[in-house]
Amino acid sequence: MIRFCCDLCHRTLQQHENRYVVRMEVFPGSEEIHPEELEADRDHLAELNQLLEGLEQEEAEPPGCHQFRYDLCEQCYRRFVRDPLGREVSVPFKISQN
Ligand SMILES: [Zn+2]
Repeated sequence: MIRFCCDLCHRTLQQHENRYVVRMEVFPGSEEIHPEELEADRDHLAELNQLLEGLEQEEAEPPGCHQFRYDLCEQCYRRFVRDPLGREVSVPFKISQN
């Protein structure tokens, strides 16, 4: 059978334990620009596209677009949803063991 390992604490999950899947997608915010704005800025975009085409020859992935997938145990899942970007890492906090 398939065994899953937590990507944060690297613990092997037991059969009875819940597994949580984190999926993240990162892409340039400029993709959300309204089409009319793109028309007005066409010359600049043409230059940008030429630059990007040069980059694409080196990278297989589209520039700036990344997808991530992680398996988490329940404990790491609870920590993750509380602080997805890890902004509290430098601030020590206690995890109650009950
Ligand atoms: Zn974990």
